Amino acid sequence: MISIDGSEGEGGGQMVRNACALSLITGEPFHLTNIRAKRSKPGLMRQHATAVEAARHISGSVCDGIHVGATELTFRPGKITPGEYQFSIGTAGSTGLVLQTILMPLIFADGPSKLVLEGGTHAMGAPPFEFLERCFLPLINQMGPKVSARLIRHGFYPRGGGRIEIDIEPAPLRPIACLDRGALVDATCEANFAGLSFDVARRLRGRVQAAFPTWPESAFSVRELPADQGPGVILMLTARYTHVTELVSGFGQLGVPAEQLGKVAAARMQGYQDSIAFAGPHLADQLILPFVLAGRGAFTTVKPTQHLLTAMDLATRFTGRAFNLTDHEGGVHLVRLGP
Ligand code: ATP
Repeated sequence: MISIDGSEGEGGGQMVRNACALSLITGEPFHLTNIRAKRSKPGLMRQHATAVEAARHISGSVCDGIHVGATELTFRPGKITPGEYQFSIGTAGSTGLVLQTILMPLIFADGPSKLVLEGGTHAMGAPPFEFLERCFLPLINQMGPKVSARLIRHGFYPRGGGRIEIDIEPAPLRPIACLDRGALVDATCEANFAGLSFDVARRLRGRVQAAFPTWPESAFSVRELPADQGPGVILMLTARYTHVTELVSGFGQLGVPAEQLGKVAAARMQGYQDSIAFAGPHLADQLILPFVLAGRGAFTTVKPTQHLLTAMDLATRFTGRAFNLTDHEGGVHLVRLGP
């Protein structure tokens, strides 16, 4: 039984999700205390409870006390069973983060699976659907499995109600080296909104256009979604390179002017473009699970986040495989596993 103090490192929901995934694959039970102790409202939120419930459900694992507010969990993993599953979060909690919990286990299952996940698809603090589709899943597919995802309906904070569908065909995970992003193929700016005035999206676009005056007019798009999917707005800046895609998002928030959202997103994209690292800050922590499970591999990234360090530490505790993190010229950091 692995004992985990959830107040260590990042001290958030990522530890809950990654612990469930690693436990299912390695067969190691775990006891987690002080869940999300570093957050203003500690304990499981609906999204985390759904993620643990999903992990339990696909495997017949034993885990008592899964409820909103729980600060402690004991998880005894069962056998992963592929199949067709549907999980509804019931809030705008992230469908992408529920996927983050059960994707790797289902990739290690002995048959294909189909998932329907309902909840938030574009809410702050989690990967928007397009990040998974454009940045994360192409690398998973490069490692061997075939995973495809469809966005059926947007779910913004606070209403939720979004829906994504995922098809998973397992295959052994092949180690890959992600050191060089390659040349820039194209860059785009999308502002998608629902149930709000067009003006919000126009102002978002205007701010990004001012930051990237050399991007062609055709790089910018504004899309109005059916009003019943809102209210909400998502700004997505996507830079596609030969070997990797980075997506920086700005989530509309009450009280935050569109110009401010656009300015922050543009600065983040500029920061990524100024570096030569392969993985942006979010992709980096999400690559730890597939990399540790592949047993070997390396990627370069921008400045390591606390999420990345915590994910590496937890992965090592379950697998005994240690990551090596080294700093290189130009602010590039190399994460290496194995020789
Ligand atoms: P809490 O921090 O409240 O416990 P949580 O469980 O929702 O919340 P974290 O532990 O912070 O989340 O983990 C968030 C995950 O979502 C991380 O893997 C992070 O990289 C990813 N993420 C957050 N924002 C983005 C974004 N804009 N694009 C892509 N990935 C994101």
